[in-house]
Amino acid sequence: MSLERTFSIIKPDAVAAGQAGEILAMIQQAGFRMLGLRMTRLSEAQAQAFYAVHRERPFFAGLVKFMTEGPIIVMALEREDAVRKLREVMGATNPANAAEGTVRKRFAANIERNCIHGSDAPETAEVELRFFFSTAELI
Ligand code: UDP
Ligand code: MG
Repeated sequence: MSLERTFSIIKPDAVAAGQAGEILAMIQQAGFRMLGLRMTRLSEAQAQAFYAVHRERPFFAGLVKFMTEGPIIVMALEREDAVRKLREVMGATNPANAAEGTVRKRFAANIERNCIHGSDAPETAEVELRFFFSTAELI
């Protein structure tokens, strides 16, 4: 199988709680190579644009508020089967349903404040990578 790229965010809850280092270690131990990594903070307009697919959902306003409350760490990651593998490392969206040893099981408070984002498909990953990283940054 060939190398694939995915995109991830360590969300404001985990950065504020000092869990970024442990989450990065879990990602690296799962065999991912870091292509790009940066700390940033989303504006309201950026959070709305990034999560535009969810704009009709009842949780959208709360999600935008949460994602703008503090700094985040954005990452471009590479490995075989990267999208599926990262979703495995993350665990289920609702930490109550997340498997033992996953990031969300270990660190997430609830279905909204769930520590980490990961792309849901290779096509989505390319769009999300492009949102935060230039072509030159990802070579
Ligand atoms: N979310 C929420 N309430 C919900 C579902 C999702 O607040 O009922 C938030 C949560 O932070 C989640 C994000 O919206 O990570 C995006 O939802 P999605 O269904 O794409 O979950 P993910 O792909 O992050 O597992
Ligand atoms: Mg998603």
